[in-house]
Amino acid sequence: MTDCMFCKIAAGEISATVVYEDDDVIAFEDVNPQVPVHTLIIPKQHYANIGDDVPSEVLGKVFSTVKKVAELKGIEENGYRIVANTGDDARQTVHHLHVHVLGGMRLPIRMGPAD
Ligand code: AMP
Ligand code: ZN
Repeated sequence: MTDCMFCKIAAGEISATVVYEDDDVIAFEDVNPQVPVHTLIIPKQHYANIGDDVPSEVLGKVFSTVKKVAELKGIEENGYRIVANTGDDARQTVHHLHVHVLGGMRLPIRMGPAD
């Protein structure tokens, strides 16, 4: 995808603070962190979101990277939350599949009211 920001990060065309990378996935710091640890994991291949007929091997790669990122960021012991915003109601803003890894503090128990 020529016009996709996360494809450009995966290709090294836009800089990011990389936490972990292998042939299939890349994890990097969210540019606008919402909590002390806020890292994104993406497959290097472009899929719009988790509803985009993503092969199970790709999903496996992305989700098995969660634990690696949690260890690298030092949040494995205390716990963390993963989120994959999907589509408009979830307010997905970057349409390249990504998983947010959120932690480094005691997280709010539930989401607030819609704004
Ligand atoms: P979502 O709302 O789930 O689509 O989240 C997209 C996330 O990508 C947001 O948390 C943004 O702060 C983050 N983001 C957007 N552009 C970049 C970028 N160039 N580098 C790192 N994170 C980004
Ligand atoms: Zn993309």
